[in-house]
Amino acid sequence: MAVPLLDLKAHHEPIREEIVRALEETFASNQFILGPDVSKLEERVASYCQARYGVGVTSGTDALLLSLMALGIGPGDEVITSCYSFFATAGVVARLRAKPVFVDIDPVTFNIDPTKIEAAVTSNTKAIIPVHLYGQCADMDPILDLARRHGLAVIEDAAQAIGAEYRDGRRACSMGAVGCLSFFPSKNLGCLGDGGMIVTSDGDLAERLKILRVHGSHPKYYHKWIGGNFRLDTIQAAVLNVKLNYLDGWTKRRQDNADRYRQLFQQSGLLKKGAVRLPDAVYRESGVKHHHIYNQFVLRVERRDELMAHLKRKAIGAEIYYPVPFHLQECFQYLGYRGGDFPEAERAARETIAIPIYPELTMAQQTEVVDAIASFYG
Ligand SMILES: *Cc1c(COP(=O)(O)O)cnc(C)c1O
Repeated sequence: MAVPLLDLKAHHEPIREEIVRALEETFASNQFILGPDVSKLEERVASYCQARYGVGVTSGTDALLLSLMALGIGPGDEVITSCYSFFATAGVVARLRAKPVFVDIDPVTFNIDPTKIEAAVTSNTKAIIPVHLYGQCADMDPILDLARRHGLAVIEDAAQAIGAEYRDGRRACSMGAVGCLSFFPSKNLGCLGDGGMIVTSDGDLAERLKILRVHGSHPKYYHKWIGGNFRLDTIQAAVLNVKLNYLDGWTKRRQDNADRYRQLFQQSGLLKKGAVRLPDAVYRESGVKHHHIYNQFVLRVERRDELMAHLKRKAIGAEIYYPVPFHLQECFQYLGYRGGDFPEAERAARETIAIPIYPELTMAQQTEVVDAIASFYG
């Protein structure tokens, strides 16, 4: 039995009619640009994230880019971020001709190691972008403290972490100056194409973001700033207004799947053998339900590349997030980093593999995945 890494058909099937109705209503309304569907989604997502304002944008990448623009980041500025994330996190910094400054990760959470940030701060540092990788918050308290001491803006990259809770239950996007979400179909809340949102509780910043989203036009055809077209499509907002109603249920199922993997791997003997290490949810405090929302379930394994090939032969979906840390990417060679600079990220890039965790995954499929991995290690 093949097990895909993600099954969007199974994901959408139970709510197919509701989604089609939303699409038809948008089509009939002839309102395709912004409008009530977008405003409604902005309010709902902001509130879901424990923040005041949402600004719907074209993608998660553009959420990050527009946030940096609104904060005035540009040439000569330095922005500190994790060296281990999806490319967009660092790409947006370089696109604004600012300098990405990388910091190694914590080996347990795969998130930026807060103890290593201070050494990367210079007089040119303007902002920090912590990434809540795989659905678990970065260790925000020390990051927020450091940012306060140095007067730096904190931009949360929460593309993989909508609703994830830190320590006492503070949600991703509620802690920094802004939080950035992606509605790419493989994220926990995905639309039918590209989409994203910036979340903030700063009213002035929200206003600036909304103006920059429409070419900096305010009032119409008068431009104080140079923005761009960064609007979230109305039709995607209409779909997301349906899907948001189900998000908590999906998150719960991802968490249940994670618990079930813990049992299955325990029974398999692979943990004791040391062949496989499971991801840790480190902020598992009482009363906090969404300590990890498992956008990905990432294992640390022995002989990773061979295991990957084995799973491929068995038609088990798996992926490597990410095979090359930023400091070793060809396009960032001009920054002057070298192999060995960030040993934890380099080790993660060699040792990790993501296996299916999507909400519709069945017990039988999970057993299949674990059996396939067990058969590899013999
Ligand atoms: C997906 C992702 C993005 C970019 O989002 P898009 O909607 O694909 O542009 C940025 N950062 C991280 C960590 C992501 O996973």
